[in-house]
Amino acid sequence: MTCLRLVLGDQLNARHPWFGRVDDAVAYVLMELRSETDYVRHHAQKVLGIFAAMRRFGEALASAGHRVVYLRIGDPRNRQAFGANLRWLIDELQATRLERMEADEWRVEQALGEAFDASGLPHAVVSAGHFLLERDEAARRFAGKVSRMEVFYRELRRRHRILIEPDGEPRGGRWNFDADNRARWPGDPPAPAWPWQRHDLGTLWAEIEAAGVQTIGKPDADAFGWPLTRREAQAWLADFVARRLAHFGRYQDAISGRSRTLFHAGLSFALNLKMLHPREVIDAALGAFGRGEATLAATEGFVRQILGWREYVRGIYWARMPGYARLNALAARRPLPGWYWSGDTRMACLHAAIGQSLALGYAHHIQRLMLTGNFALLAGCDPDEVDAWYLGIYVDAFEWVELPNTRGMSQFADGGVVGSKPYSGSAAYVNRQSDLCRGCHYRHTRRHGERACPLNSLYWHFHVRHRARFERNPRLAMTYRGWDRMEAAERAATLAQAERYLEQLDSL
Ligand code: FAD
Repeated sequence: MTCLRLVLGDQLNARHPWFGRVDDAVAYVLMELRSETDYVRHHAQKVLGIFAAMRRFGEALASAGHRVVYLRIGDPRNRQAFGANLRWLIDELQATRLERMEADEWRVEQALGEAFDASGLPHAVVSAGHFLLERDEAARRFAGKVSRMEVFYRELRRRHRILIEPDGEPRGGRWNFDADNRARWPGDPPAPAWPWQRHDLGTLWAEIEAAGVQTIGKPDADAFGWPLTRREAQAWLADFVARRLAHFGRYQDAISGRSRTLFHAGLSFALNLKMLHPREVIDAALGAFGRGEATLAATEGFVRQILGWREYVRGIYWARMPGYARLNALAARRPLPGWYWSGDTRMACLHAAIGQSLALGYAHHIQRLMLTGNFALLAGCDPDEVDAWYLGIYVDAFEWVELPNTRGMSQFADGGVVGSKPYSGSAAYVNRQSDLCRGCHYRHTRRHGERACPLNSLYWHFHVRHRARFERNPRLAMTYRGWDRMEAAERAATLAQAERYLEQLDSL
């Protein structure tokens, strides 16, 4: 009897019940696959990081006494897809049973479901045990009308008794401290550098290149920064709680040319690979609050991201796939400008956000939402292209979390499932939240004319072309009132400027 248990690259959860007991009749299988490196063009650090973390995980399982079969990307036996590998492994290991954890991505779930069914062997699918809401419950929760994130978040706060008083009311008498959490960062307090590792992954990178995998961005293979083991991820979490959490809330919406990471956690790579559990991340923040090291506003602001947004987008994904991936409510069809792949634009804010994304495989939430996402929204870029870009460029990008954030929150292509209005902003927003407009080629105060910031005219063009859809939305009433109050000549010049920019998006 051999039971073959498949462990995916984003299932590196050392505390999963599977690994609690060594059993010689169980073989754990990990595979580095071209099907996974090639479904979209990924950042070099994403491919490197996932494979390196998988290798360490496989080695840790083997040294704990488990039987491990590990297929490297360059292994001649590797058929480079789940189903094709499973077929020969079943023979090779004389497997009599197959088991796997639930996949988080629809595409992978389908492929594995088919491969397991085709095997003809008895098989089972177990929970990955990672989220606070099981996948089926999450999907059921959003199958009908999708409640706003805030409603869902309050439910989970109560269910898990997180920052909740005995009478069920929120700690501090408020659920939401967003109003305290929108400051521009003046440069002080200093933003501590992240605890980057310096792994030498040169050999692995050579194997990836030799296999012909095409990537984007810098591999940084000789001094690779992201955490690759649970122990490293725990150290990263401790560093965040000790040095950045206290200021997380206040500056979470800030953007700065002086710090690429501000007070953000940098934990999404470790969380999404399951090296850390969301509950332990929340508990670490609550611990700091209990010790008086972080305010309630900072702690709540952070808990809301993990307990609220992270679980919420996953629920929407599993309730709405596969149709969700095809939604294009605003009929956006323009190609994404070429400079999304190089950072080569004179708009200082986009140059900085894309440049750092190529360098690190990371941009923080507001850069993703209000810089790269906002521009693509205003310009009417095709959500398929926008999704492919986000799914490739970030080390933390897995479709269950990327898609609702990109197609939903950022591009409004879901017609308002995730957000009640589009997240759109003109240069006034960027100038308020960042220090980047000052040195920019474009003038953030101008709507049209020489060096007018493209965000201004594109902002108005977006709202005018979608007026029929948005003008009755109470959250956009002020925007349309502002437009209607403008002189007719000003409105015409603004729209004409936007048209000119839309014709030459690639050279902005
Ligand atoms: P912090 O700002 O420190 O937040 C802490 C944690 O909260 C994050 O690690 C993450 O786990 C969670 N979180 C925060 N916001 C969200 C959110 N909106 N959705 C889900 N979880 C959230 N996140 C991904 O993990 N993968 C993606 O592919 C991804 N794509 C995105 C695309 C767009 C267009 C946008 C607007 C957001 C996207 N996000 C994605 C959400 C968010 O930007 C990242 O989780 C965050 O920037 C990761 O960095 P951090 O760990 O420093 O986060």
